[in-house]
Amino acid sequence: MKRLMTATAIALPMFLSATAEAKDLAIHAGALIDGVSAQPARQVTILVKDDKITGVEPGFVAPAGAEVIDLSTATLMPGFIDCHIHIASRLPSKTNETEYRLTHNDIDRAMDAVVFMREMVQQGFTGGRDVGGGDDTVSVRDAINDGKVPGPRLLVSLEPLGPTAGHGDEHSGLDSELSHPGWENGIVDTPEQGRIRVREHKRRGANLIKMMPSGGIASTGDNPHLQLMTNEEMKTVVDTAHALGMKVAAHIYPDEAIYNAVEAGVDSVEHGSFATARTFALMKQKGTYLVPTLTVYDVYYNAAHDHPELLAPGTAPKELANDLLPKKNLPLAVKSGVKIAYGTDIGEGDHTSEFALLIDNGMTPMDAIKAATSNAADLLGTSAQVGSVQAGKLADLVAVAGDPLKDPALLRHVSFVMKGGVVYRQNAEPTVAGMEGGH
Ligand SMILES: [Zn+2]
Repeated sequence: MKRLMTATAIALPMFLSATAEAKDLAIHAGALIDGVSAQPARQVTILVKDDKITGVEPGFVAPAGAEVIDLSTATLMPGFIDCHIHIASRLPSKTNETEYRLTHNDIDRAMDAVVFMREMVQQGFTGGRDVGGGDDTVSVRDAINDGKVPGPRLLVSLEPLGPTAGHGDEHSGLDSELSHPGWENGIVDTPEQGRIRVREHKRRGANLIKMMPSGGIASTGDNPHLQLMTNEEMKTVVDTAHALGMKVAAHIYPDEAIYNAVEAGVDSVEHGSFATARTFALMKQKGTYLVPTLTVYDVYYNAAHDHPELLAPGTAPKELANDLLPKKNLPLAVKSGVKIAYGTDIGEGDHTSEFALLIDNGMTPMDAIKAATSNAADLLGTSAQVGSVQAGKLADLVAVAGDPLKDPALLRHVSFVMKGGVVYRQNAEPTVAGMEGGH
């Protein structure tokens, strides 16, 4: 409780007050990983005016009238972006999701999302992409953008598009008499229906389309090894989305289905667990992103092991059988040169945990940081605004107390977070020994 209060006390007053005043800032960074360069720069000053970076200067400079933020012993990076989140999703190790959904409504979940998004920005994430929400998700995105509540800049999809009895069909495995308004919003059983769903999602405020061409693991009754949408359905969804300026993220496991979805033109393959070298080669050729989401497999594998009773009915064996494969497959993806963007597939919990999983399974620390910054922005289509520390970009910045390339564990403990020129987190300077007084 005390820790939470302290974090809130640090975060909220700055969040609330700094929006009102717009002072020129000069941030002295001991090192800068700008998100695009191959190597860090040493001792630079990042100049910020209002919500934007106006310059990156060598050395520590302090223009007249600018307020200096001293991060001269820290490494500064672009704010992190998590490309696969579910803002209201609760950790399976703590909550029985089936029971929770029976006893809570969309407004309750929006309140949960507000809490999880406040925590996420404190972890260093100034951006996120929700791939599978509802009208509540759109509202939380807008509340953050309007400055009503703290959180990352969000792009959101609505209900994942997929067939009857697929991974996104909420009826699967339940008494067939049960239903809920909205459960049909993602169902696609013909190309024509796909076209209509995409247009409906656009109308309701989606930034992108999430599609589930294959079965999944955490859902009752479907098979992750099968392609469930037809190639024609996928192509119609992709073409309609692209015509409306929306990208398509596709949740897919089986190799053949990934190949077909990439051919259909999806912008990213989410999970991609069973992809082979041939499919990665096609993804590289077409520039399709892979979002490996290793975090969620760790989280669900452990839950299936320790608390199978908390998972959706009948899914623990699916988790145990499939969740270790994505880690084993990541080195092949890295070797193939496919573009990788950072995604955890969680809402509640530690969004920084993917860094160590990527680094332990074949990525360099620099490439893992790029996956969460410049690559993530490229996938989201927001590179002109975020993902790198350059003049003209939004001032979305994080810092860690040391060198994250030598000690990647630092990425789990950011000491400073700025979003749009507003400080959301600034850890106190380390206390000097003996200064704390005598009781
Ligand atoms: Zn997901």
